Amino acid sequence: MTNVLTDELLLEYKRCRRRAFLEIYGDPSHQEQPQDFLLKLRRDSLAHKQAILDIAPHQQPNYPYRDWEAGFQATWQLMQQGTERISQGVLLAKTAEGQTLVCSPDLLVKQPGRSIFGDWFYVPTIIKLGKRPKPEYKLLAAFCTQLLAVVQRVWPTAAWLILRRQHPHGVNLDIWIPAMQQLLRECLETLQQQQEPEVFISRQKCGLCQWYSSCHAIAKSQRHLSLLPGVTPRRYQELLSLGLTTVEAIATTQITTLESVLSQEIASDLVQQAQATAQNRAILRHHNYSTLQNFQVLNGSEEYQPPSTPVPDINSLPTADVELYFDIEAEPSLKLDYLLGVLVVERHTHTETFYPLLAEQPTAEASIWQRFLELVWLYPDAPIFHFARYEVEALKRLAKLYHTPSVLMQPLLSRFIDVHQQVMNTVTLPVESYSLKNLARWLGFEWRDRGINGSQCVCLYSQWLETGNRSLLEIIRRYNEDDCRATYHLKQWLADFYRC
Ligand code: SF4
Repeated sequence: MTNVLTDELLLEYKRCRRRAFLEIYGDPSHQEQPQDFLLKLRRDSLAHKQAILDIAPHQQPNYPYRDWEAGFQATWQLMQQGTERISQGVLLAKTAEGQTLVCSPDLLVKQPGRSIFGDWFYVPTIIKLGKRPKPEYKLLAAFCTQLLAVVQRVWPTAAWLILRRQHPHGVNLDIWIPAMQQLLRECLETLQQQQEPEVFISRQKCGLCQWYSSCHAIAKSQRHLSLLPGVTPRRYQELLSLGLTTVEAIATTQITTLESVLSQEIASDLVQQAQATAQNRAILRHHNYSTLQNFQVLNGSEEYQPPSTPVPDINSLPTADVELYFDIEAEPSLKLDYLLGVLVVERHTHTETFYPLLAEQPTAEASIWQRFLELVWLYPDAPIFHFARYEVEALKRLAKLYHTPSVLMQPLLSRFIDVHQQVMNTVTLPVESYSLKNLARWLGFEWRDRGINGSQCVCLYSQWLETGNRSLLEIIRRYNEDDCRATYHLKQWLADFYRC
């Protein structure tokens, strides 16, 4: 193994053991280029750090990129000189086994007290763009604290996080130092053993990972259970403990078997999901399925009717003469909803008209909001279909921001129908996740521009603001229209499925 373990690598290990392993032993040709959205996040994060650092004077050690020894020497000199604030310094310590541990705290702040340097010591600060003090940030602060203690021969009295809201957050070192030490031990062991950790695909952690394609291909070839919606890492271990290692095994297992490790509802959902995947077909969802099955088993009589057979609510999906399909593109870092896309479907005239209400500049958000209100009130009886919760939340935000009276908003919101929720409540599909992309693609729908997604549109809009290149707006507009059309496609399929 490499002899150097950096704070970055430890953080990657915390997020995914496999990822840390691949960073050292993986074939770099299997690694994709970072997505534009990831690059934007990195740029935003750097800008945030710089803005925080520039609040007060600071000195940065000068050293060649990733030359940790040189960085440590330069930092040591600044510490020895008693520099008040040292930014992006390097701390370095050796383990008993000869590995080098390295971290680069964003800021070291001088405090009165004794240390190897004299009448002062330093405390570390980590600056992150995140909103919440996540455990991984606290572990990182604890790691820097430990290395700082080795370097200055005295424990820092505190460690701080500065997040998006810029209010410093103290890290409880009594809790996070032992947690970090445990993580560090495991990380060193895993990397030393050189045993490739198993693939486990999870939307949240894998979404922006540069190893995604190669990991996903492996998971696909293994028909890995992490590709089954509802299988979390913990549930995966529970399934293995029951000897359930394949989708087919789960599909044919008794729900009562799973109930020894999972709740009744989760067990029932998981079996239905495995059945849909194994048989590659859509299944009408049966809530409390196990209860129904148990009644049948216990009673042993064909005539017996359980007290109430759970039936999914398939009546809350209206079909109207005019239907609206709505999707928003947003720029979260600007708190901006810059594209309100509405597809108007008029069945009697067989027309479909798409209205991209686009704020070419952030200041135009108020005007597209007004145009949106005018458009949707042209069709006062039309249901407004959307996918997932964001559209409703954004609407409430816009109404509040632009003082739209609640007497206008309440009837409008009552027309909203969440197609995602409807799918989740009523049907199980052989998909890897219930995202619009996965659902619509399973139904045969394709977006015109492959490779574009919502995150990428965030980057394209930023580029448009910087460059004024109109072709970028056109890509976003097309993507948004396709999202509306995919929602329409899904809703149509759902309505037909209920009729069968
Ligand atoms: S794709 Fe997922 S499993 Fe693979 S290395 Fe990245 S985070 Fe880990």
